[in-house]
Amino acid sequence: MNTVAPPNASLRMDLDRVLFTEEEIAARLDKMAESITRDFEGGTLTVVALMHGGLFFVADLLRRIDLPLRVECLSVASYHGGTESSGRVTLLQNHLPELAGENILVIDDILDTGRTLHAITNRFRESGAPNRMKVGVLLDKKVERAHEVDLDYTGFEIGNEFVVGYGLDYRGLYRNLPCIGVLKPDRIDTPLS
Ligand code: 5GP
Ligand code: MG
Repeated sequence: MNTVAPPNASLRMDLDRVLFTEEEIAARLDKMAESITRDFEGGTLTVVALMHGGLFFVADLLRRIDLPLRVECLSVASYHGGTESSGRVTLLQNHLPELAGENILVIDDILDTGRTLHAITNRFRESGAPNRMKVGVLLDKKVERAHEVDLDYTGFEIGNEFVVGYGLDYRGLYRNLPCIGVLKPDRIDTPLS
């Protein structure tokens, strides 16, 4: 049999398990994009993409949406390098996009403690009322939240484990894996303290 090694084969070797394949993600994005197109039909959309985790998700999702739309990217950090949320949400720019009167869709890679999306959506509400604001994530991690966040669009639900791939990183690496999975334990450094 003629077997060809997939691209990123050596990166995939660092995974213990694949949770969602590239094909499963693509099929799910088709459905999410359909709902978004239907919900905002007749309007213009402003998508606020949280970087860097949302990078691949937003690029693939937006190309499936049949609406006039603009994209704003915001850089936020809450993990600061490890596998545990730090509890602090750092917005890495001073100016928020002007969103009063807009139809906004905030997109993040994953909802975990809820701190990031809670902080961002609150900032938007305070800084001039958007017309409509909806929130979408690729992954909804089923854990106890520090802040409740109402999700309008969810790709997949996952348990309480640290995942990488398709934009999600560990210490800045693994974002370019086309699938989403869990790292082998020996790929994760023991925290220093
Ligand atoms: P929250 O503020 O909801 O606790 O966390 C959201 C952010 O933490 C996400 O945008 C993401 O950057 C990061 N995060 C949460 N869980 C995971 C995970 O399992 N893997 C990775 N790579 N990042 C995560
Ligand atoms: Mg993030």
